[in-house]
Amino acid sequence: MKKNHEELIEKAAIALMKSDFAVGLTGAGISAESGIPTFRGKNGLWSKFKAEELATPQAFKRNPNLVWEWYKWRMEKIFNTKPNLGHYALVELEQLGILKYIITQNVDGLHQIAGSKFIIELHGSIRRGRCIKCRYIVAFDKPPRDIPPRCPECNNLLRPDVVWFGEPIPEDKLKRAIKLFSIADVALIIGTSGVVQPAGYLPYITKEHGGIIIEINIRSSAITSIADIFINEKASYALTKIVSFIKNKTMKKSSK
Ligand code: NAD
Ligand code: ZN
Repeated sequence: MKKNHEELIEKAAIALMKSDFAVGLTGAGISAESGIPTFRGKNGLWSKFKAEELATPQAFKRNPNLVWEWYKWRMEKIFNTKPNLGHYALVELEQLGILKYIITQNVDGLHQIAGSKFIIELHGSIRRGRCIKCRYIVAFDKPPRDIPPRCPECNNLLRPDVVWFGEPIPEDKLKRAIKLFSIADVALIIGTSGVVQPAGYLPYITKEHGGIIIEINIRSSAITSIADIFINEKASYALTKIVSFIKNKTMKKSSK
């Protein structure tokens, strides 16, 4: 590791330790190390489709089978993955009382499986289906066998309980997220390109209110220009280092 990175990791850890109300924003990058492809990665069979062409209400109207085939393929992948060290480090930050909330754009449910308690799933969850007619919610513990799945209440089509391109985020969720980012004195932004709105705007709210922006990403993103601390590293690596630095400091303090 470059020395520069070590210093940035320490700086980030100290900012988090000093914070009164730190929040996190995560994107597909934190789950990449669990083996879940980001939308901008190579998707084999599905590489000829763009996510923007499948994850839309229009695509579902035109061809629910195709959309469900794609979701089934993604669900099969996601149900076979586990949280990685990055997710677990965020659980520790919550248990240490430092991280108050995670707002995630991910639909994979891995933060909850890792053990984080305070989560807002801004874009819903691939582990649920929702009836297009009566809005009944079905929780999936495996991908549906028959495509397209139907509502057990009214037999209409189920759709994935996610927010598609061109759809609004449920108002209550967005309001809570905006509130959290406006009161946060530190925002920890991990593995997001920051181009999907309104999620990408949340760090800007913290910045406007005078908060500190810490970003962890293997590439620069639409957030990097406002980041006070940009750690150009993999999420699992940087987060694990941050947590061990904090735990070391706290132990030294309590043994005095
Ligand atoms: P994105 O694909 O636009 O960007 C991923 C970001 O992660 C990139 O900036 C990349 O540089 C970074 N990254 C990749 N590997 C990393 C690593 N190991 N450590 C740190 N950073 C890493 O993803 P997005 O910003 O979340 O937005 C895309 C949309 O796609 C979201 O709305 C989300 O709902 C959806 N999506 C979700 C999942 C999932 O649930 N796991 C997967 C793909 C897409
Ligand atoms: Zn129904």
